[in-house]
Amino acid sequence: MKGLVLDAKWKPKSDYKVSDWEKETGKAVTGSSVWHNPTLEIRDWPDPTPGPKEVLIDIQACGVCGSDMHFYETDDEDYILYPGLTKFPTILGHEFSGKVAEVGKDVTLLQVGDMVTVEEMVWCGRCTPCRNGFPNHCTNLEEIGFTIPGAFANFIAVDEKLCWKIDGIAEQFGSEEMGYSIGALTEPTCVSYNALFERGEGFRPGHYFGVFGAGSIGLAAIGLAKAAGAGTIVSFEISPQRMELAKKIGADFVYDPREVNPHEVLMEHSKGEGFDFLYEASGVPEIVVPEMVKSLAINGKIVQIGRAAQSVPMYLETIQVRRGQVYGSQGHSGHENFPNVIRMVSAGRLDLSPIITAQYKLDDAVKAIAQSTTRTDGKIIVRPN
Ligand SMILES: [Zn+2]
Ligand SMILES: [Zn+2]
Repeated sequence: MKGLVLDAKWKPKSDYKVSDWEKETGKAVTGSSVWHNPTLEIRDWPDPTPGPKEVLIDIQACGVCGSDMHFYETDDEDYILYPGLTKFPTILGHEFSGKVAEVGKDVTLLQVGDMVTVEEMVWCGRCTPCRNGFPNHCTNLEEIGFTIPGAFANFIAVDEKLCWKIDGIAEQFGSEEMGYSIGALTEPTCVSYNALFERGEGFRPGHYFGVFGAGSIGLAAIGLAKAAGAGTIVSFEISPQRMELAKKIGADFVYDPREVNPHEVLMEHSKGEGFDFLYEASGVPEIVVPEMVKSLAINGKIVQIGRAAQSVPMYLETIQVRRGQVYGSQGHSGHENFPNVIRMVSAGRLDLSPIITAQYKLDDAVKAIAQSTTRTDGKIIVRPN
């Protein structure tokens, strides 16, 4: 089969201490300090065969994520920008859907022909965090499209425990093709659902909701907040195209943060009361969080979901006086995230179809990743088969 393969040279930066575990496994914990001179191309790759508990998936749609963009872009010294867990060479792609083409002999949850989407985080179910109910913090984690082959490819073999059926989405949108395209948005939407309702513990209907950054995670947060009954929703975003998408998905007001003082805008919209729920999805928390602190309602919440290796100045006096809370959120697994997002989309409560702004064939997947670096699209989809 064919796949979009990222290769790079293992060349740790001089100030990066490689651990014994990294040497043994060939995995880099901080990819951006290790992987040098990346190359990205469509290549032949061995056909995967499913193990006893695995299914073979004929991949129909795979979305381009910000992390894929951060593999393509490099720093001044030609290291990848993505700062997380990685092992190369591998096939990229982790936001996907497809049709079950073959089942292993011990598979009981799925049949050939089922339409599915898949969790990207391959949690073990055996380590202490997994057994305590925290699969997003698994200590034996593998990640599809980061440490093991991903879904910008014709096929992938995955454990049945990671798959969720999406036939209800196809029914809601009236075609299998749309079912697969929208189904591929499930993974990033679950990242947002986990941040809003699991880590951030939700909000009351009517609460003021502010979102910084309207990439696919921020856009999903806007759609989810609207569906869940937020009061006024205000979004900040610098790309004009994404500002339009934020409005389409449900933001009442969208501002370019370079043209306004965000905290003043939020205090005006809340008539001086402050915002109840503030969602950081811009990746520049050192700029955003101080604005959030200045516009926090009593009992207000700040949820950090964007990734950035940055310390942030935070005026804790306000967190005390306003009875504030700060939450960190990572991942999408467990906590009813996948089934509840699929139910919302299948019931027509959440329509994220406007955020798909471009589609590519697998042969043009490098172009799809290159286009994402313009940071103007909602979601770019690659359709392998
Ligand atoms: Zn992603
Ligand atoms: Zn685990």
